[in-house]
Amino acid sequence: MKHAMTAGCGLSDEDAALVAGVRARRVRALARTITLIESSRADHQARAQQVLKALLPETGQRVRVGISGAPGVGKSTFIEALGLYLIGQGQRVAVLAVDPSSSVNGGSILGDKTRMERLSMTPHAYIRPSPAAGSPGGVAAHTREAMLVCEAAGFDVVIIETVGVGQSETAVAAMTDTFVLLQQAHGGDDLQAIKKGIVELADVMVFNKADLDRNATRLAMGQMQNALRLLRNSSHWAAPVLAVSAASGEGIDAFWDAVLQHRKRLAASGQLTEKRRKQAVDWMWTLIDMRLQKRFHNHGAVQAALPEQIAAVAAGCTTPAAAAAFLLDKL
Ligand code: GDP
Repeated sequence: MKHAMTAGCGLSDEDAALVAGVRARRVRALARTITLIESSRADHQARAQQVLKALLPETGQRVRVGISGAPGVGKSTFIEALGLYLIGQGQRVAVLAVDPSSSVNGGSILGDKTRMERLSMTPHAYIRPSPAAGSPGGVAAHTREAMLVCEAAGFDVVIIETVGVGQSETAVAAMTDTFVLLQQAHGGDDLQAIKKGIVELADVMVFNKADLDRNATRLAMGQMQNALRLLRNSSHWAAPVLAVSAASGEGIDAFWDAVLQHRKRLAASGQLTEKRRKQAVDWMWTLIDMRLQKRFHNHGAVQAALPEQIAAVAAGCTTPAAAAAFLLDKL
């Protein structure tokens, strides 16, 4: 019987097989588990949580790196170069994507299968394109859980990639140990990232395509270093600013050294454990907030009362606070 419960651990035979397969580093089991996680069916979600719980003891020992940057800056070229470099050092690498575009219109900036062709061909890498649209808890929810499954499947480094558009960067920074901002020198408006306030999230700054214009890259790096000096909170890690050429592989080794350095610093002061604990608890609160909102919007009494309250607030007949309190009382 497919869904028979296995005595004691609460997992069905099928799910126990998934757990065993992931632990045994079988790619099919890994892919099927992530598919289960990405499913919007309530029964799949319940099973996914059981499987994740069973795998939790195998998670947490790996390196989690977030990489963000605008489209075209060279993320996939960079991740491929980095992945191949790490594999050359005997490591196994998983690459996951948080793609905000996929939850908006079902399309995807990052989900293109032709990306990272060489990396995807090695058995030491696992690349998962973006999840489909409309998942409960958002795209990032699945990526966080997929990351844990990859860790349980023995991947030494999990790279989470995102396109640089607002919230997805914050979400990726909140699930990784080291967050990397990938940029390129434009010869002018190089401080875009600073204006967007993303710089504070970055633990390592990388200017890619250094081969194209070394002077512009040097200038942009100088600008960034100055800006970082102004922003810097004295007790914090000083984010290094590096130049690389993902296309030729130049600077990839220095980049990885910087990631390890950052990690070492976090670990030495006990901040790595603390950071991960805080990330997990913050994530729990994010999920609670999201699910409460969903429950609120789906609630019959709320739906019935909502139009009148909106009209009353718009017309100035009641205050937003009074309407909010009235509607929340319906829950
Ligand atoms: P993504 O959209 O951020 O993933 O960017 P891609 O990795 O697809 O790269 C966009 C374009 O930039 C491609 O044509 C790459 O070949 C090119 N590119 C990426 N890295 C470098 C680099 O270091 N030097 C040069 N000259 N071109 C690069």
